[in-house]
Amino acid sequence: MSIDLLDKFQGTLIGVAIGDTLGHPFEGKLRVKIYSYFKDFNEFIQEYRDIFKTYTDDTQLTIHTAKAIIRGNGFNTYNFIQEYVRWLDDPPIGPGYGCISSIRRLKYGVPWKEAASNSGGNGTVMRIAPIGLFYCQDIKGLKTTAIKSSIITHSHPAASAGAVVIARAIAYLIEKSPETGFSKDKLFEVMISSISGSQEDIWEEFIKILYKLKDNLDMPIEAGLIKFSQAGVKSPYFIEEYLGQAFVHPYAISTVICSLFIFLNRLSSFEDCIFELATAGGDSDTVGAIGGSLAGAYFGMKNIPNDLIKLVKNHKKILRLSEELYRKFEKRF
Ligand SMILES: [Mg+2]
Repeated sequence: MSIDLLDKFQGTLIGVAIGDTLGHPFEGKLRVKIYSYFKDFNEFIQEYRDIFKTYTDDTQLTIHTAKAIIRGNGFNTYNFIQEYVRWLDDPPIGPGYGCISSIRRLKYGVPWKEAASNSGGNGTVMRIAPIGLFYCQDIKGLKTTAIKSSIITHSHPAASAGAVVIARAIAYLIEKSPETGFSKDKLFEVMISSISGSQEDIWEEFIKILYKLKDNLDMPIEAGLIKFSQAGVKSPYFIEEYLGQAFVHPYAISTVICSLFIFLNRLSSFEDCIFELATAGGDSDTVGAIGGSLAGAYFGMKNIPNDLIKLVKNHKKILRLSEELYRKFEKRF
């Protein structure tokens, strides 16, 4: 069966925006608190559509990444920096400190090697989807580009590792579909091999956490999130008060692990998957965005309910941009 890649490109980027939009009202809240607001999330959305009126930095930066790739026909440091600086005029919605401080320095002409913050936050993973799509058939290029795109703002190895793993997962998933399913073992194999063999301790630690996740995929969602919410987080960033709670930490590794965990636990439909992602607790909008890119890549746009697409601000623009990105990809590869 042949895969409609345009449908997958559109599904991936609109998936980011849907997860981000649905998760935004729940950013910074404990999962137990979020679940006290409703019995049926779908009904809650219908009743309170107004609180889901915007996406945040995750979708904004994803849009700018796509634009930078389209303009440069691939990665180009200058175009990426210029697009991220343009984001400051959007203006940014709910950005992380590491991200916005480095981009402000870039704006004032500081070279990227000095401008990048030493943040291991999820700021570079949340914007990686267009790279996973554009380089889906050039896995070497995918890895180097994911790293290059990450280090211009975040010099910490956790940020680049998270970006590589999610880009690689997207490239794997767009070749699959709900009709054929996919092998979770194989997905882990490609993700782990994408960051294997480095001399980087944090990358090695990330691999160990991925193996641990693989062994715990069948855990109930709540218990799994309690287990992985702060995976890899170290002092002084570890939040003692959230120990034993489902509250996803904005560290790149914990966010990626929790997004993968929920995605792999809810493969019944795009809707089930995205609802669970956006209500993760803690950095819910980013779990929604990252997990939404995986769900969108796998299910494709044709399996995303129209209602959810229409909920997204500027959804037509995002779909057009996804198509433009696809046309560039088609020409180049
Ligand atoms: Mg956000």
